[in-house]
Formats: sequence, C-alpha cells, structure tokens
Amino acid sequence: MLAFESDADTARTDTAEDRLEALGRALFAPTGSNGVHARTALFETAIEALSTLITAHREADTEVLRFAPVMSRHQVEKSGYLHGFPHLLGCVCGLQGDEAEIHAAVGRFNGGEDWIDALRATDLVLTPAACYPLYPLAAARGAVPAGALKFDVESYCFRREATHEIDRFQAFRMREFVCMGSPRQAFDFRSRWLARAQAIADALALPYRIAPASDPFFGRAAKLIAQSQVEQSLKFEMLIAVRSAAQPTACMSFNCHRDHFASTWGLHTEDGEVAHTACVAFGMDRLALALFATHGLDLARWPQRTRQSLAL
Ligand code: AMP
Ligand code: ZN
Repeated sequence: MLAFESDADTARTDTAEDRLEALGRALFAPTGSNGVHARTALFETAIEALSTLITAHREADTEVLRFAPVMSRHQVEKSGYLHGFPHLLGCVCGLQGDEAEIHAAVGRFNGGEDWIDALRATDLVLTPAACYPLYPLAAARGAVPAGALKFDVESYCFRREATHEIDRFQAFRMREFVCMGSPRQAFDFRSRWLARAQAIADALALPYRIAPASDPFFGRAAKLIAQSQVEQSLKFEMLIAVRSAAQPTACMSFNCHRDHFASTWGLHTEDGEVAHTACVAFGMDRLALALFATHGLDLARWPQRTRQSLAL
C-alpha cells in the first residue's frame, strides 16, 4: 500500500510531480546546487526523531564514533574505491603554491578568467560512506577480540550522482552499525539487523520490501561484478516508495563485505584469521523523506503508531 493516506485530500487531485514538488518545497530550501539542500525545521524534526529511534535499537557493547564529511584520500584509494566507484568520488582541492602563485590565481578570477587550473588535489576526499574511515582505525588497534567488535558511526557523505531526483542527494547523512569478527559473527550481525530494520519500518508504518541489491559499480565490468554480488547475497536493500511505487527508493542497506576491508587493512581475529566485516546503513535523509512521502507533511496527522515510535 503506497498511497499517501494522510494527505488524501490533495493526493487525489495532484499529479505525482506536483506532490514531489510540494514535498521538496516544504522540506528543503534551494542552495543553488543540485542535490544539495538546506533542510527545514520540519525535515530535521523527523531526522532527529529517527536518530533517537535508531539509537534505541543499538546493540549492547557498541562503540560510538562520529566522522567528518572529509577523510584521508590515501585511505579511500587503498580501500579500492577508485576501482569500484571513481565516478562518485569527490576530492578536496585547494590553491597551493607560494603567495605570488595564489595571488595570480585570484587575480585571474577577479579578471573574469579561469582560475581553477591552479587548484591541486589535497590529501582529503569527501567521505563516500560512513564506515570507510572505520576499518583502518580499528585495524590500527590490533586484533579483534573473540566477542567481535561493533560500532555505531555516522557521517555526512558525498557522492557525485549523475541525476538529482528528490531522493538522490549529492550530500546526505548516513548512519551505520558495523561489525568486525569471524565470518559467522559478521553474517549473524547482518541477519539480526535485517530483522530489526523491518521491525523499525513496521513501527513507523512504512510499507517496504527487502530486495537483493548490488553497488553502483563503474565501467564495463560493472554488470558482472554486480551480478556476482547479487548471486552471493552480499547486499540487500530496504526499498520504500518515495517518488513512486514503481521505482522505490533504497533507504537502508545490509552489507557483507566478507574479508574485503579486513584484508586491505590487516584486520585479524585473535586466532590469527583474517576478520570478516558487515555493515547496515541507514540513509537518514531518505528515511525522513519516506516518512513525509508516506504520511504527509502534517506531523499531527501521522499514524498514531508512527508518532509514538518517534515520540512526536
Ligand atoms: P550504500 O553504501 O550505497 O548502500 O548506501 C547506504 C545508504 O545511503 C542507502 O541505503 C541510502 O539510503 C543512502 N544513500 C546512498 N546514496 C544516496 C544518495 N545519493 N542520496 C541520499 N541517500 C543515499
Ligand atoms: Zn558501510
């Protein structure tokens, strides 16, 4: 059921496009850049309530870390991001050189000329996923204890998306729970979160579907790699109708990385085996959008169950 019940009066007469435009107007203020929004108080009310709800589901013995929207370029390179997703990466550039060189570049800008040739890449990139900075950080601490490691991380993320529909941001917030341990521990962690996430969606009265998924790999080999990811059940997504029921939006993902990050960073278990890792990611902005798209813009008219779960 994907109608917009609590907004039924307007939904009946509006086209889908009108409805999305009304959502965008109420929830965001334009910034002049596609897929980069200023969020209204209404939108942030939902984000904050969702964050609290997600925290309430956090497993015991989970370490909390909050990351910056930028991270080490070296770490992203070493993680293999350029093999998989070079088209999505954003790199921090700056004016480098001596005072005269920087003055010259600014002078070219002031004269209406091109100055960006003077920019050079720095040692930072924009964080592409909240869990990327975590693996080297954890590996540097030593072996994973027998009970496994669990983390709660969050970051503003950047992806240079090719299109900018209402649910496709360039800059968005990602909350993640991550597990590092034995293959069994990582797999079981993902299974637990697959169940828990569905309980959360039910508590929010959000209709959803869990589907096998693949990452948006780049280039000619993309199809093959994606296919193998699906065949091995490495990724699942929770899909919710935001733009339309026919093209539902991935609002959460449930990922088994096997030993990819652990091999890269030398992360071992106490018995000397290469660790396995898994993560569950909440697209906070997409989840908030899903709530408004499903229940309407008037919080007071959201279903009782939803309001109660979010303490609204
Ligand atoms: P992924 O690492 O691709 O599985 O992304 C984790 C979660 O982040 C997804 O399930 C989405 O909810 C969210 N997400 C990914 N890309 C975007 C985007 N362009 N705009 C908003 N949210 C996104
Ligand atoms: Zn992750």
